[in-house]
Amino acid sequence: MDIFSNSDAASFRGKILQRENFNEKKLDDLHWTLSPFTIYLGVKGKMDGMLHHNYFLGSNFKDYADTIFTSSISPKKPYYYVNVSSKSDETCAPEGCENLFILCPVPDLRFKSNWDDKEDLANNIIEDLSNRTGFDIKSNIITKTIKTPKDWEQMFNLYRGSGLGLAHDLNQVGAFRPKNKDEHFSNLYYVGASTTPGTGLPMVVISSKLVTERINNDF
Ligand SMILES: Cc1cc2nc3c(=O)[nH]c(=O)nc-3n(C[C@H](O)[C@H](O)[C@H](O)COP(=O)(O)OP(=O)(O)OC[C@H]3O[C@@H](n4cnc5c(N)ncnc54)[C@H](O)[C@@H]3O)c2cc1C
Repeated sequence: MDIFSNSDAASFRGKILQRENFNEKKLDDLHWTLSPFTIYLGVKGKMDGMLHHNYFLGSNFKDYADTIFTSSISPKKPYYYVNVSSKSDETCAPEGCENLFILCPVPDLRFKSNWDDKEDLANNIIEDLSNRTGFDIKSNIITKTIKTPKDWEQMFNLYRGSGLGLAHDLNQVGAFRPKNKDEHFSNLYYVGASTTPGTGLPMVVISSKLVTERINNDF
């Protein structure tokens, strides 16, 4: 019988299989991708200034990018992405309304474990977006859902809330990445973002193809 793990291929080896090479200290020393802070809004009214994809950045990109992922506090002037799918597909929201998905990259749970301030960061982003678009979002909110790195960790067992799993540093790709076949159990295989080839939806689809080929070859 073959067994697959779609759980994170690095943290599964550490947390479930208790492998020393993947103990908590070693896992924390690896380079993990960003944690998402996400807001889902249903808004009454049409936001004319918005497109399907929108990025809201500041002028200090390098400083921001250099510090944001290792900070222990929420960003005061956050950079964020807004997806308004009702701009392309009107069935995404009731007539005369918009649906907004907002993603702000934030530090993972190694650096910021307490998200009691989630409403403050959400309000900060909503106010900034209102100012930049000239649309009073706060007065027109119909629904609002916030997900912090803590929620992402709990929902999908994402290590420390890292949204895309292990990063693609040179020492974390190819032969250096956790393998899609277990080192000890010959019938245990891994699929998904933190095994080969890497993170993101296209890569994890390729990952499933690679592991299927590997199993077929093992027979
Ligand atoms: C907010 C956000 C936005 C993203 N945006 C993009 C994007 O725009 N483009 C892109 O390419 N990628 C994006 N990604 C990344 C992409 O979603 C992931 O790379 C991809 O989903 C990883 O696939 P996977 O199969 O490895 O893991 P997952 O899709 O996380 O599936 C793993 C499954 O295993 C379950 N599981 C975990 N541990 C256990 C366990 N111990 N026992 C039982 N079940 C378990 C989880 O609940 C989950 O259902 C985003 C991720 C997030 C969080």
